[in-house]
Amino acid sequence: MGTTTEPTAAETEEDPSEESAVETARKQLDVAVARLDIDRNVVERLRHPRAVHEVTLPVERDDGTLEVFTGYRAQHDSVRGPYKGGLRYHPAVTRDECVGLSMWMTWKCAVMDLPFGGAKGGVVVDPKSLSDEETERLTRRFAQELRDVVGPHTDIPAPDMGTDAQTMSWFMDAYSMQERETVPGVVTGKPPVIGGSEGRDGAPGRSVAIVTREAVDYYDRDLSDVTVAVQGFGSVGANAARLLDEWGADVVSVSDVNGAIYDPDGLDVGDVPTHEERPEAVMTYDAPEKLSNDAVLELDVDVLIPAAVGNVLTADNAERVDAGIVVEGANGPTTFAADAILEERGIPVVPDILANAGGVTVSYFEWLQDINRRAWSLERVHEELESDMTAAWDAVRSDFEDGAATWREAAYAVALRRVAAAHDARGVWP
Ligand code: GLU
Repeated sequence: MGTTTEPTAAETEEDPSEESAVETARKQLDVAVARLDIDRNVVERLRHPRAVHEVTLPVERDDGTLEVFTGYRAQHDSVRGPYKGGLRYHPAVTRDECVGLSMWMTWKCAVMDLPFGGAKGGVVVDPKSLSDEETERLTRRFAQELRDVVGPHTDIPAPDMGTDAQTMSWFMDAYSMQERETVPGVVTGKPPVIGGSEGRDGAPGRSVAIVTREAVDYYDRDLSDVTVAVQGFGSVGANAARLLDEWGADVVSVSDVNGAIYDPDGLDVGDVPTHEERPEAVMTYDAPEKLSNDAVLELDVDVLIPAAVGNVLTADNAERVDAGIVVEGANGPTTFAADAILEERGIPVVPDILANAGGVTVSYFEWLQDINRRAWSLERVHEELESDMTAAWDAVRSDFEDGAATWREAAYAVALRRVAAAHDARGVWP
């Protein structure tokens, strides 16, 4: 007492749900480097993206009117290999969001030891407001506007929120037609028939399940004794929930934008319609209890998996999180302030850059298959993903055991050491 106390992150933050991804990403970087012996000049470089491309996209609507959309591609760092990361179609896309998400891609690729850097892009649009034809025109125009800055050895987009294998097909086709040759490696997440990888769609959810299994084991629990709640039943949430159920866990609650279903005895998650099967239909499942989408975050469960959008665990609700472990399925679901609260409350958070990294890892497998013109079996994809995920988990666990305060700090340490070593070896030029 008597000394000045620094305000906590929670106290200084005005509206935690409004924190931009780049603010969160920079604060996380600052915390992580504080305990690492990393050249501060390299850290300064890593606080900024190498480039952010902003384009306008004129699209003819089906009624003949022209609408102009804005698109971005943020390229953060490519010291370890080509830029890599998704393209999202969402009304909340901003330049800052793309920059923050591109920083996370750099760490995600490095934590997995993939020979890629980090990028992210998007278009400010509600994809639900577009017909398929309008989405196709938008995507082809976006590919055309980004043509000079993407490519199989420079920057390789992939699906993210609001985009899918069809979006990637249009992007790849537009790029290939302009290059006058078929270039499957310019994007990943394509359908297998044009060079996509088996198992790519389910990969982010599969990695979330693998990492959850490892985390549960680390805390001396048996997967068959744990209860799980999943926010979001899209590609990440649904695949994670179904695998964990298959591996013996009790998935007691899942949600979508309309609300959550809850059964303390465990849901039959195979019967809950995923977003791909029937969009926004989770509430049609006959469950003993229905809750709000936010209530799922406050359930008394062993594992909570936020797998929908960013910034859902904030200073406003972090005190009420009642889970034993949080495993981040979405990118950036926990604000910086919420992270501090959860740390103080002793609730471990397994970070996005490790947990959902299966997506970009199988993207890497896809890129290898495209370059070698040879497809892998689903069994091989699953085996190699399992081995890459457990290797990354072991590397992060070792830093955690060596004194990192949180799992996020440990994952950042693994990633930053690799990125910084590459910067150190290459130097600054010109
Ligand atoms: N959008 C995914 C992510 O956030 C995948 C990126 C990729 O495969 O390049 O990790």
